[in-house]
Amino acid sequence: MVSNQNAIKKIGVYTSGGDAPGMNPAIRAVVRSAISQGVRVMGILHGYSGMIDNEMKPLQMRDMANIIQRGGTILKTGRSNDFMKAEFRAKAAQNLRTQEIDGLICIGGDGSFRGAQALYEEHKIPVVGIAGTIDNDVYGTDDTIGFDTAINTAMEAIDKIRDTADSHDRIFIVEVMGRNSGFIASHVGLSGGAEEILTPENIIPVDKIVENLRSSRARGKTSSIIVTAEGQKPGRAYDLADAIRKKSGLDAKVCILGHLQRGGSPSAHDRILASRLGNAAVEALLGGKTNTMIGVQSDRLIEASFEVVTIKEKPGDKSLINLARLLSV
Ligand code: ADP
Repeated sequence: MVSNQNAIKKIGVYTSGGDAPGMNPAIRAVVRSAISQGVRVMGILHGYSGMIDNEMKPLQMRDMANIIQRGGTILKTGRSNDFMKAEFRAKAAQNLRTQEIDGLICIGGDGSFRGAQALYEEHKIPVVGIAGTIDNDVYGTDDTIGFDTAINTAMEAIDKIRDTADSHDRIFIVEVMGRNSGFIASHVGLSGGAEEILTPENIIPVDKIVENLRSSRARGKTSSIIVTAEGQKPGRAYDLADAIRKKSGLDAKVCILGHLQRGGSPSAHDRILASRLGNAAVEALLGGKTNTMIGVQSDRLIEASFEVVTIKEKPGDKSLINLARLLSV
């Protein structure tokens, strides 16, 4: 327990950006940690839209019952173009003041932290962030809430696809989420035994893919799994299947996992991470911190400033991709 340096009496908590399994255990940790220190909590609905539209409700200890296992977010989430404009941020700040909210906990990705940063710079409302996104693409933290559940969901899907790929001697291209980053693809690919993993940082020419497929067939392999991140345009797996067919005559089936990767009950790993981060975020806010994300590095909780987290890009880990290829011979 920390001393409440800013004499914060009431905080707001919100989820923003894409939903991620584990957001509910994070909300639970925030609410119960704050109330146990005598601090009241308001839940802000639909992220920044709710802040602008004054959609807020008090949260009590008992409101957190039975949510630890639920996917999605009980506070709802969303994206708000209005919040990109100073006039709407001023409206949001006015609502927060009217509700007597002295500080905020933001659960979201780096975009949400950018919004929080702007709110602090313009209106001096302290904010501490927790990274909640299935993409794990936030700089400064090894892990984000929802990533573990999402990769397990996708891996289980690949296990099932593998059964049919094997029965029919087929090539399957499985498309996973990840617009700008390949963390889901690399982790799912390695854990699902994929032969090739394509990510925004690891683009493999079709000629090379065909050459590798032919060589694995020559070695007696009858089925293959290729994992690709969706990239800028979901559905790229179809383009890849077409290109492989045109170059080689090999028929590749496509499976796009899509939004099923976002849903489901959070894994034990994500519940533990969310509980630790939620609690530490409250401690940090009450301890006078702002514009700071609580993250995890080498299993230790750390603080990283929004200024750094929102500017730097988290580097991908190509070693997993190389290992997947080595082990899928
Ligand atoms: P994520 O938090 O998952 O990265 P987004 O990038 O969609 O998701 O950001 C969530 C929301 O944060 C946006 O819809 C917008 O309301 C707000 N936001 C993002 N960037 C900024 C910014 N530069 N200034 C103000 N608000 C922002």
